Amino acid sequence: MVNSKALGLEFRDISHGYTLRDRDLPVIDDVSLRVEPGEFVVLLGPSGCGKSTLLRLAAGLELPRDGHIYADGHLVTAPAPDRVVMFQDPTLFPWRSVRKNVALGQDISGKRDPAAINETIRLVGLEEFADAWPHQLSGGMAQRAALARALVNKPRLLILDEPLGKLDSLTRLTMQTEIARLWRERAFTALMVTHDVEEALVLATRIIVLSARPTHILSEITVDLPEHRHRDDPHLVNLRRDILVRMGHDTNW
Ligand code: ADP
Ligand code: MG
Repeated sequence: MVNSKALGLEFRDISHGYTLRDRDLPVIDDVSLRVEPGEFVVLLGPSGCGKSTLLRLAAGLELPRDGHIYADGHLVTAPAPDRVVMFQDPTLFPWRSVRKNVALGQDISGKRDPAAINETIRLVGLEEFADAWPHQLSGGMAQRAALARALVNKPRLLILDEPLGKLDSLTRLTMQTEIARLWRERAFTALMVTHDVEEALVLATRIIVLSARPTHILSEITVDLPEHRHRDDPHLVNLRRDILVRMGHDTNW
């Protein structure tokens, strides 16, 4: 099993872009950011600004044009099992049960650990559905299964790309609380993208507000709220208003 100690991540002078129909599309403009071990950092920014691109770079799925990314001081050049990504779609294999989906990585690597699989399925509250098929799950349950698959080998960094974006609003609130609990219990480092300011405030230790493309860091907010948070905490409500203003929204309606 992978070391469970939380990982430190550093983006150093990152610039990136794509070639689109022979034209250059600059996407990331000189982003430097340190994520300390055990932090929960949330990236907030307008649609299309380059948030998913930053996450793919952190995962090692793409290499930056300029600058470097370090995981615990080591240059990131490829994906690694201690940096796991979870996307908006649960992408479960329909022909594998929940347990078999969670076991997928272990089946591929040949390092099977049935106790860890059972423990992780229990951790996300799916023990009754361990032998169910994906089509028998609700959207929230499918995302729980995807979370279990991401967490089963105790990653040291969990990268979350709008993981709750497709859930209905009530399931979304429940899943936010669940992610907060899993983060406290498993003590991994988390780097998440969301466009939901309240979601960011429920989860983050620090929020990074990004500009439109080519994106750079506009501001950084340390979330000095207690570990167990309440959505109606006046301080949280004030921070929400402050962040919306920083993102260019008028909050007087
Ligand atoms: P966000 O996640 O903030 O909505 P993305 O990181 O997905 O934004 O995309 C940022 C910009 O980069 C968009 O304009 C998108 O069209 C472009 N882009 C992303 N991936 C590619 C790619 N593989 N090839 C060309 N353009 C891309
Ligand atoms: Mg995206």
